[in-house]
Amino acid sequence: MKMLRTKGLLAVLVTILAPPMMNAAAAEEHVWKVADGVYRYGNPNYGYFSMFVVTDEGVIAIDPMNTEHSKGMLKAIENVTNRPVRYLLHSHNHWDHSKGGQVFRDQGAKIIAHEEAVEWMKDNPHPELVLPDEAWTGVRKDIVLGGKVIELHSLGMNHGLGMTAFLLPKEHIAYIADIVTPNRMLFSIADFNIKEWIRTLAELERMNFQEAVYSHTHAKEPIGTKRDVTQTRELIEDLQAAIIAEFKKGTSFYEMSSTLKLPKYEHWDFYDEWLPINVWKMMFHMEMGPFPWRPNYMHDGIKQ
Ligand SMILES: [Zn+2]
Repeated sequence: MKMLRTKGLLAVLVTILAPPMMNAAAAEEHVWKVADGVYRYGNPNYGYFSMFVVTDEGVIAIDPMNTEHSKGMLKAIENVTNRPVRYLLHSHNHWDHSKGGQVFRDQGAKIIAHEEAVEWMKDNPHPELVLPDEAWTGVRKDIVLGGKVIELHSLGMNHGLGMTAFLLPKEHIAYIADIVTPNRMLFSIADFNIKEWIRTLAELERMNFQEAVYSHTHAKEPIGTKRDVTQTRELIEDLQAAIIAEFKKGTSFYEMSSTLKLPKYEHWDFYDEWLPINVWKMMFHMEMGPFPWRPNYMHDGIKQ
């Protein structure tokens, strides 16, 4: 989603659907050092951010987004180290995060995604999408490279398929895509299971990290914190409570999106534009039950 405030949903969708063009020469301007060997990469004008981890034995990159973004990230990596990219990791299936992998495959990187994301990619090809080399299963996988550990946590069916959070346990840093976007209303337009979303955020709150690189952020600070996870959970819960309170006052289903206000979040981006959409999504969730849904998914280590 676009970092800058736009006039409405159409502009946002145009941003999502049109792959951003990126000047690879400008790559070094789009790098933030998070900790020793840990970097955030992205162009704030386009609002997509990846993370890469540099070790003595090579580099681990997370989320290629698209070919131009990946070329820029590779350039940024080469500005920091001459070691090869050994792994490219996917956060989830969605095209706007998963395209561009060929750039890293050409460097010899092994591409890894959760099996739920890989199955979707097989059935939903895109010219810029390459299939991962490895589909991991279950709820947890660790990658160790050059003395650095990166934990892959499959978080269930909150958003998309195979949604994975990445945790650097020694550095207490996480990479989290899409399910937390600091300082912005919920992107609840599509493919969010609200019940699972709340459960996932609580799971993230229990994890051992302080700082986080979020794939999108509307906060002033480039690096987020765990507090952003809590605030997102609180927004979802505040929205649900406000809808219940309005129903009790007699506000109808059809009046709700124009009546309900959440002044606590007035300063969050897209408050005016997206609050009505968030209200509709939440009411459908409350009336119809959680969706999207699928059988045989994993969460908390238990096959349901
Ligand atoms: Zn997504």
